[in-house]
Amino acid sequence: MLGLYLHVPFCSAICNYCNFNRGLFDEALKRRYVDALVREIERAGQSLASLPEAAQGVSSAPLAADTIYFGGGTPSLLEPHEVARIVAACDAAFELTLDPEITLEANPETVSEGRLAAFREAGVNRLSVGVQSFRDDELQRLSRLHSAGRAADALRDARRAGFDNVSLDLMMWLPQQTVDAWLESVDAAIARGPDHLSLYLLELYPNAPLRDDMARANWSQAPDDDAAAMYLTAMERLDAAGYEQYEVSNVARPGRRSRHNLKYWEDGEWLGFGCGAHSTRDGVRWKNIASTGEYIDRVTRDEPTAIDIRTLSPEERLGDALFTGLRLTDGVDLDTIRARYGVDVWARYGAELSPFLDGGCLKREGRRLKLTRQGMLIAHEVMTVFV
Ligand code: SF4
Repeated sequence: MLGLYLHVPFCSAICNYCNFNRGLFDEALKRRYVDALVREIERAGQSLASLPEAAQGVSSAPLAADTIYFGGGTPSLLEPHEVARIVAACDAAFELTLDPEITLEANPETVSEGRLAAFREAGVNRLSVGVQSFRDDELQRLSRLHSAGRAADALRDARRAGFDNVSLDLMMWLPQQTVDAWLESVDAAIARGPDHLSLYLLELYPNAPLRDDMARANWSQAPDDDAAAMYLTAMERLDAAGYEQYEVSNVARPGRRSRHNLKYWEDGEWLGFGCGAHSTRDGVRWKNIASTGEYIDRVTRDEPTAIDIRTLSPEERLGDALFTGLRLTDGVDLDTIRARYGVDVWARYGAELSPFLDGGCLKREGRRLKLTRQGMLIAHEVMTVFV
């Protein structure tokens, strides 16, 4: 089953740490963009020939999909009728299963109970709320537009609007954040009872304006050991509250794992629509042109939007499957890898993996190879064995 990713590149303001493909909201541009997005989806549905040649496969039957994910940017800046139109285009172009998971990322300041109910009507059945922190001082340092109170209200509004699958994002290792301050946000999140949580470490990219803000205001990040304590203690509290960790950064109540995001980690396939969206099908990977204006122009002129089309070598596919699979707490099924790629992982990588096993960062359980929670702290170091 395919996942369908739809990129919405508009935000009300640009956060000082953001490295995503996004720009400031512009009503006229957004309308043209939605038209282009719908057109791109229709094109893919009418003819797989609109996909890069190597990714067209042998059958001309419509492709089946079971997840739709509106990511951004700030998808909740779309109007509910626009979301409904895009979902309808996906439904017409692809064989959507009877119970597709349809996720919308939402920023707290953009939603009300009424708007959320209208998104629900439009077909959205999973909401992912960008809370980031339940402390106003931390949100202000990140130049976020919402307050902690608005974030809490957005979660309440989501329930009132009928959402029974709500996720929230929190960020840790923020400027000036102590371990205790971080745990305040974790406890506040647990108290709101979401179905799913994603916990991300703040990554300061080289030219982030936040770096300048930090230098000017003399803000700093806690030492590495504190960052490790933030992660491990948060996960323990979430365990105790009944959440299951299923990926390095993600926990869920039973039955509430993100079906869409699992495709990225389980060696799955997805098609991305909109500017900068990535796709993977039949061992081919490509991305759309990043510029919003150029994307609209290309779709309007009926020209291909895909750039960077790459057919992955068997070695690259194997490396990716191991690299991403290890992010899951279920780890990698070595028998499946052998069946799919003809490689005995242990014979090939055993010598390099042994130190991580001996150090308690990796474990072998039956046919599976997994990171321990301690190992998740150095996940990238372990994964580089495969790439
Ligand atoms: S709302 Fe999200 S996508 Fe938009 S600027 Fe802020 S961090 Fe980036």
